[in-house]
Amino acid sequence: MNIQSLLEASARKHSHLCPRQILGVRIGLRGIAILGLKPEEIARKRLLIIAETDGCFIDGLIAATGCDFGHRTLRVEDYGKVAATFVDTKTERCVRIAPTLDVRENASSYAPDEPRHYFAQLKAYQIMPDEEMMMVQEVNLNMDIAQIVSRPGARTNCDGCGEEIINQRETHQNGLILCHFCAHGGYYAPKFYTPAPLAITQYGKGVSDSHPDINVLTAPVELNLLEEATHLERLILRNCLG
Ligand SMILES: [Zn+2]
Ligand SMILES: [Zn+2]
Repeated sequence: MNIQSLLEASARKHSHLCPRQILGVRIGLRGIAILGLKPEEIARKRLLIIAETDGCFIDGLIAATGCDFGHRTLRVEDYGKVAATFVDTKTERCVRIAPTLDVRENASSYAPDEPRHYFAQLKAYQIMPDEEMMMVQEVNLNMDIAQIVSRPGARTNCDGCGEEIINQRETHQNGLILCHFCAHGGYYAPKFYTPAPLAITQYGKGVSDSHPDINVLTAPVELNLLEEATHLERLILRNCLG
């Protein structure tokens, strides 16, 4: 297969061509071939890719498969590894593909005239046979495929912060519907606690009845009190501020 047009598409997006993009293109094509998916099936979102790193590799995967974040057909589990699992969401067959452990060393034999490793890889990764380049594993996902894909159009509001949650990413805790952040904390910490207007009107005084174990304050509370509270207490206290 001539991969030039795919490499060009990837390089256009990336502003240059690098070895990891070529790995992305090759691994993407192999994933599709192993699952035996037709372009129209991929267009209908039958293929889901879980990539194990972001960056250059992803651009190659997108160019080769058409899967991307906008269509929700590409996800990243960031293990910092150039590898990806191809999921046929209809049959639930999953294939994980990664470069062979010695792919860099082998590259030089496919570009003997090129002493510079980077350029040898650029050349070699375009022509190396699949078997010398990639390892393929049949795998099962440790998560529910239907749950990853979720129900399109689903939305609700978080009882903690009031913000909207789409794609069924809410969790249920002590009778509350919570976003990931309010339930488990998240990748950021607010500098200041601010009341969530939506949640106050929704829960306001009812909180003490439904959560008798939690000391609800309806007056503004001191910050140090909030800091001593458990996460859920903090959440409810915050909803009652003001
Ligand atoms: Zn790059
Ligand atoms: Zn929330």
